[in-house]
Amino acid sequence: MLRERLVDALGADAVKTSPEDLAVYAFDAYSESAPPDAVVLPTSSRQVCATVAIARACGVPVVGRGAGTGLCGGAVPTAGGIVVSFARMNRLLQLDLPNRRARVQPGLINLALSEAVAGAGLFYAPDPASQRASTLGGNIATNAGGPHCLGYGVTANHVLELEVVDDRGEVFSCSIDDIGYDLTGVLVGSEGTLGLVTSAWVRLLRMPESVRVWLAGFADIESASAAVSQTIAAGIVPSAMEIMDAVITQAVEAAFHAGYPTDVGAILLIENAGFEEDMQAGEAAISRICRDAGALFWRSAKSTAERAALWAGRKGAAAATGRIAPNYYTQDVCVPRSKLPQAIAVVREAAADHGVTVGNVFHAGDGNLHPLLMYDKRDRKQVAGVIGAGNVILDAAIALGGTISGEHGIGHEKREAMTRVYTTEDLATMAKVREVFDPARSLNPEKIFPRGVGCPEVR
Ligand SMILES: Cc1cc2nc3c(=O)[nH]c(=O)nc-3n(C[C@H](O)[C@H](O)[C@H](O)COP(=O)(O)OP(=O)(O)OC[C@H]3O[C@@H](n4cnc5c(N)ncnc54)[C@H](O)[C@@H]3O)c2cc1C
Repeated sequence: MLRERLVDALGADAVKTSPEDLAVYAFDAYSESAPPDAVVLPTSSRQVCATVAIARACGVPVVGRGAGTGLCGGAVPTAGGIVVSFARMNRLLQLDLPNRRARVQPGLINLALSEAVAGAGLFYAPDPASQRASTLGGNIATNAGGPHCLGYGVTANHVLELEVVDDRGEVFSCSIDDIGYDLTGVLVGSEGTLGLVTSAWVRLLRMPESVRVWLAGFADIESASAAVSQTIAAGIVPSAMEIMDAVITQAVEAAFHAGYPTDVGAILLIENAGFEEDMQAGEAAISRICRDAGALFWRSAKSTAERAALWAGRKGAAAATGRIAPNYYTQDVCVPRSKLPQAIAVVREAAADHGVTVGNVFHAGDGNLHPLLMYDKRDRKQVAGVIGAGNVILDAAIALGGTISGEHGIGHEKREAMTRVYTTEDLATMAKVREVFDPARSLNPEKIFPRGVGCPEVR
């Protein structure tokens, strides 16, 4: 019945229901769930509307899906229903160069947008490390960050207008220029629970006149972190400040030969962008702060190729850990920048106590830690160790005045942990927002909210 109706509306080629097709959609980069009842691959907003209307008529939920690179189980269908894959809605629809903006379909890959506008001297700033694979729709739904979000802001700062399909299968639009409530702000980061994004106008930035990438080496993460805090405290905000420890740099060097030193405890990758005439003074100021914090060496990338290699190492860091263990779990927590050393100490202790190998690679400028806890998922003891260490790190982040997600979102993974940072009243207030958009909880159910909060059955 469900399949027939979907095939009638979208055509057989756009509807997948064979077990082997569905199995693929039971995963994202974090978790595995039960497969959906059907997967659809629409090519237009109209087809998305038809899908949602059919789901409503059949009483099944709808889960949006970009590239499935999410790290919190957001795109996995925990309650069956229909997965709407935006893989075929992947076009750059309009380029408005005078106003430096682009209208995109949700399935467009993040990096493809920057590549498409590079010839006009423009780029799209939010650059999650997954940008070669992740989609703009997924980025909008998770309010994705990335290394350069220190200087340029996160996805929410670059979305201008949205076209959205609501829970009844009708289209509405909102813009940051709307008078009254900021619906665009509410929708960005809502993880597919308030509507399905079918197109977006996003901001493009002019490429800076000059870009420098510097590499500083330190004995340990603590001194690298101190250099980051002191740089920003001095009123200098580079476009990116990323730290990697020796576990990560050694894995990256073995895999990608990025040019990282492997004989130091931690490296700090810094990018500064702006006017050429400011670069020398910027380098002098930041390198001085790094030396005062204990930097053992300082290197400036000499060419575009060298810069690209240093960044390729950073963005490939998670993949490189495949050399250490078959699986990794990325914890995503934020702490105030000044608390980074304490947080790192907890990460190390938690990993050691639970017998887990940990590598640290993180957006240090934002205080956003990403300990990669490495394990073999076939070994239950190792799985238990990773869960235990991950929980200790989560609790420590909260105790240090931080929060349970910096950028990956809440999804299915951290829904119960929401009670550690919000009161029941806080969560009930948030649930009221959801109620307005999706009273039946048919859009991406079982995500963000802990079991029982604002659920129809509780009501
Ligand atoms: C190696 C690696 C590095 C990463 N680095 C970063 C990083 O630096 N910064 C960062 O923020 N994240 C990072 N991530 C996490 C992930 O890439 C981001 O969360 C990304 O935004 C997900 O995009 P996606 O297209 O894969 O979305 P998916 O994983 O498919 O979906 C993510 C969420 O968005 C919803 N969704 C997808 N499309 C739509 C739509 N059109 N409308 C409504 N809802 C939708 C889904 O339902 C789900 O809840 C990384 C992941 C990996 C594997």
